[in-house]
Amino acid sequence: MNRPVSCAAIHAAMLLAAATTLGLAAASAAPAALAAHGIDLAAIDRTVAPGNDFFRYANGNWLKTTEIPADRSSYGTGAALVELTSKRTRELIEGAAANAAGGADARRIGDYFASFMDEAHIEALGLKPVDAELARIAAIGDRVELSRALGATVRADVDVLNATNLHTRNILGLWVAQDLDEPQSYAAFLLQGGLGMPDRDYYLNPSAPMAAIRASYQAHIAALLKLAGVAEPQARAGRIFALEQRIAATHASRADSEDVKKGNNHWERGEFDVKAPGLDWQAFFAAAGLSSQTRFVLWEPAAVTGVSALAASEPLDTWKDYLTFHLLERASPYLPKAFVAENFEFNGHVLSGTPQLRERWKRAVDDTNQALGETVGRLYVARYFPSSEKDRAEQMVRNLVAAFATRIDRLEWMAPETKRQAKAKLAALKVGVGYPDKWRDYAALEVVRGDALGNAERASLFALKLAVARLGQPVDRSEWCMTPQTVNAVNLPAMNALNFPAGMLQPPYFDPRRATVLDYGAIGAVIGHEISHSFDDQGALFDAAGRLHNWWTPEDFAHFEAAGKRLAEQYDAYHPFPDVHVNGRQTLSENIADVAGLSDALDAWRLTLGGKAAAGASGYSAEQLFFLSFAQMWRQKIREPALRQRLVVDGHSPGEYRADTVRNLDAWYGAFGAKPGEQLYLAPAERVRVW
Ligand SMILES: [Zn+2]
Repeated sequence: MNRPVSCAAIHAAMLLAAATTLGLAAASAAPAALAAHGIDLAAIDRTVAPGNDFFRYANGNWLKTTEIPADRSSYGTGAALVELTSKRTRELIEGAAANAAGGADARRIGDYFASFMDEAHIEALGLKPVDAELARIAAIGDRVELSRALGATVRADVDVLNATNLHTRNILGLWVAQDLDEPQSYAAFLLQGGLGMPDRDYYLNPSAPMAAIRASYQAHIAALLKLAGVAEPQARAGRIFALEQRIAATHASRADSEDVKKGNNHWERGEFDVKAPGLDWQAFFAAAGLSSQTRFVLWEPAAVTGVSALAASEPLDTWKDYLTFHLLERASPYLPKAFVAENFEFNGHVLSGTPQLRERWKRAVDDTNQALGETVGRLYVARYFPSSEKDRAEQMVRNLVAAFATRIDRLEWMAPETKRQAKAKLAALKVGVGYPDKWRDYAALEVVRGDALGNAERASLFALKLAVARLGQPVDRSEWCMTPQTVNAVNLPAMNALNFPAGMLQPPYFDPRRATVLDYGAIGAVIGHEISHSFDDQGALFDAAGRLHNWWTPEDFAHFEAAGKRLAEQYDAYHPFPDVHVNGRQTLSENIADVAGLSDALDAWRLTLGGKAAAGASGYSAEQLFFLSFAQMWRQKIREPALRQRLVVDGHSPGEYRADTVRNLDAWYGAFGAKPGEQLYLAPAERVRVW
């Protein structure tokens, strides 16, 4: 259903759903199973000066010759690996389904997948899977019942700091995570929601492209209502859109939502009735399964106040139409073809520019991963992640952590007391490699063969109940926020923990058969990126225990903030389109992690040499190979609507500018000889060194 977005991850997981992850893309459509993954020499465009455009120097010929597959909004290193991983996952799921002795989990994933795949049955059912819910919405007779219906949509579908998924179509989103003031206990974070489009900007920005998307969205609302046989679909669509626009006006901006200092607002249960009148909060929280929760953290309190007031002021019938539309939107992937096609037309084609719907089996794999991720992941690591690779990856992490500690020691501007705190935080990092130490138990999740929508709904409720059950329990720092088969990596800032899923520890990011320097330029920079998130502009606000607490001397923090400001200005100057630039503030955490992570990876690789000279290859020195490996990891082609969407909602900069952060490292100038006057050249004093 609602997909997780990526937050402190290396990259955005997918459009409409990403957070603090590292966000990456893949190299070749089908990486050969046994060939070592070296530098892609054919991709390099030697007509481009590295100092003018390093991304195009490293990837120019690949950019000229690669076409984005019709069913994707973007393509690159990460996307190719996602495709390969999906194919392998399908084989594992089908194999499990065919194995009668596989046990309850194998049956669960087999039935889940098969139910999604059974299009003939779904077609025959028509609207039957949503009939009961449509009738419940139609029967809403007053504001208390409306509050109950809105509360019943709440799911554990957002994540502020880890996966950075800040968007939910439901009226509010729940995130259960470590309390930022009392890190030994879990808190219930409530996030703004209720918008069918990715961000408030889509409703309020006066630019022509955004106005065109608004017109398409309104047509999409009407089309979906019409498919469901709702009378007067156009008029209702107009009112639903107007309501969403009013909700959008109460929303915080993306950049404000990413600011933990603005988000950490504690409300007692009793304060909702006083500070946010309108909704019947008792009915709302009871329906959300949160009636015994007495304290909440409101990430965007003005949006909660705003939507609650709208629950009272907007006509009840408009709210019922709104709920009807959102039910249909949520259910569309599991309904007959006409609904699937309409859902794709807006959410895939209009919002991302993707020409063609992905094949059904790919959607089925994604959906099964979403519902039963750790069960599937267990099969994945058993087949594709031998313990030797886990050991090797863990050794790399240790090297990167050691190099980061040395970098802290060497900082000239930082006071000894701040250094001591930073190193204590580094020493307390909890690093997970490949897969979690203990696996999630799905015994309580009922999967019914032939009930695709019901299975998805039960899976999202199962996830909600797991989250709610954590409230009041001690914090479990071993818990993961990504599945093992995910091609991504993540920092959990409040937990002071890192997850490097097995899906990310595959070629071309990580390959035991090739020269070590290439691994350090790729997965090494990813590992360094995630370590650095503990020390980026947001991560630096948490201490070793995950408490939101200032452990800096004022002078040190001022220096750190000044460096961040210069990096934000560097990214503000990048213009993917004439009318829009990268938002340097929105992407600051990720940009700090990129530059610090790359610096850390270079140091860690040098440490592995033990003072010996490193051999180059194919006419490149070892240091050139390091930077080429990094820039080729970030190669990506992306459709214009998808890129525009990411510029609005993603905390990560586009891959091109991530590759170009090499310009902040002195070693890159030594390796490629960038000169004054070239586009990427920065005088030594202008290079941003954060850590
Ligand atoms: Zn990141």
